[in-house]
Amino acid sequence: MLKPSVLIAEDEGALITLLRYNLEREGYRVLEAHDGEEALLVTAEEKPDLVLLDWMLPHLSGIEVCRRLRGRQETRNLPIIMLTARGEETDRIRGLDTGADDYITKPFSMIELLARLRAVMRRIRPGLAEDVIRIGDIEVDRAAHRVRRAGEEIHLGPTEYKLLDHLIQHPGRVFSREQLLDAVWGSDVYVEARTVDVHVGRLRKALNIKGVRDPIRTVRSAGYALDETFAA
Ligand code: CA
Repeated sequence: MLKPSVLIAEDEGALITLLRYNLEREGYRVLEAHDGEEALLVTAEEKPDLVLLDWMLPHLSGIEVCRRLRGRQETRNLPIIMLTARGEETDRIRGLDTGADDYITKPFSMIELLARLRAVMRRIRPGLAEDVIRIGDIEVDRAAHRVRRAGEEIHLGPTEYKLLDHLIQHPGRVFSREQLLDAVWGSDVYVEARTVDVHVGRLRKALNIKGVRDPIRTVRSAGYALDETFAA
C-alpha cells in the first residue's frame, strides 16, 4: 500500500527538519514547501494526503493558502492542520473560519502533533487502521478480499477490487485517470487513460445493485471520487 503523504508548508528550517524526522519515523512520506506559493504548487502536483500549514508563511499566508485549497474542487476535502504561534491570536484565527480541520499552537509537543495527525488520518484513510472499511452501505473486507453492499456480496474482478480499495481509502477525494492508473496499475505499466473509464464502469455496474444510489461520482474533465455522501 502507498505510504500516506504529508506536506509540511513551513519556512522555519529547524522545525521542518524536526517534523520530517518524526513523520518519516511514523511511516509518512514527507513533502516540503517553504512559502505559500510553493505550498499551492506542491499540493497541485503531488496531491498529499494531508497538509501541515504554517499560518505565517512568506508570499502567501497560510490562511490564504487554506482558502484557495478549499476553493478548488480537487482539494476541497484535503485535510489541513494549521500551525499557529502563541501570540498570533489563535482564537481570532479560528474565528476567521479558514476551513482548517485542526489547529496546533507552537511550540507543540511532537507527541501531540502526531496524535492529532493520526486522528485526522484515521478519519480520511480508515484503511490504515482497519481490515474492514465501511462507507455507507459498502463494506470492503481487505483481509478476505470481499466486498458487500447492503449486506449482499459483490463479486469484482481484481482490477475493480483494487480501484474500489483505493477510492474507499480516500472518501470524497477526486482522482484523475492518471492518478488511478498509478495507484491501481502502477506507474511503470503503459495503460491508456480510457481503460480507467472501462473499469470504473464495471465497478459501478457491480456496485449498483437494485435500488441503491451510485456511490461513484464522475467529475467532468477531472476524474472520479467515491462519495461519502451517497448514503446520506
Ligand atoms: Ca512561519
